[in-house]
Amino acid sequence: MTQATLILIKPDGLKKSLTGNILTRLSETKLEIVAAKIVRVSRQLAEEHYCHLKEKPFFPELIRYLQGELHDRRKVMALIYWGEDAISKCRELAGATNPEKAESTSIRGSYGRITTAGIYENVIHVSSNDSEAEREIKLWFSPEEIIVNLYPTKEVARKEKKVKAWA
Ligand code: UDP
Ligand code: MG
Repeated sequence: MTQATLILIKPDGLKKSLTGNILTRLSETKLEIVAAKIVRVSRQLAEEHYCHLKEKPFFPELIRYLQGELHDRRKVMALIYWGEDAISKCRELAGATNPEKAESTSIRGSYGRITTAGIYENVIHVSSNDSEAEREIKLWFSPEEIIVNLYPTKEVARKEKKVKAWA
């Protein structure tokens, strides 16, 4: 089944200069990258992304982690990988959520750690199923930023809005 998945290289991945290594590992999947960007993560975006964990005791620290406040790197790299069984292929390479339980050759097993505060710093996010992928991709990307048509779109008239242009 052709699928799309959101991939985030989390702030610890960027701080540890792991972008190249992680992308090289993901290239083993032979999937196609159909969108990519660096994002400064607002609290609202972080909270929305992890809304399923809102009730967890580690939620506030997790939000700080995704926003880069634990690593002095206030950004993440967001990508969309697309192709046959994209979700299971990427999740397998990523490894288990807990980096200590993850296969040692997986991305999280190789590069992740558990902080003293108990947060799993596991360097990468991968959507876990189709509906989560759709929700997350729509949260992180607009249709024009993706080079294939993943989901139905509609045309909307925007009121005149100020945007930044090159001076
Ligand atoms: N997380 C954590 N402690 C936990 C569970 C999750 O620190 O006990 C963090 C970890 O960074 C994880 C993220 O919260 O990647 C999202 O959790 P989820 O259960 O969705 O795991 P994932 O889909 O990332 O494997
Ligand atoms: Mg998850």
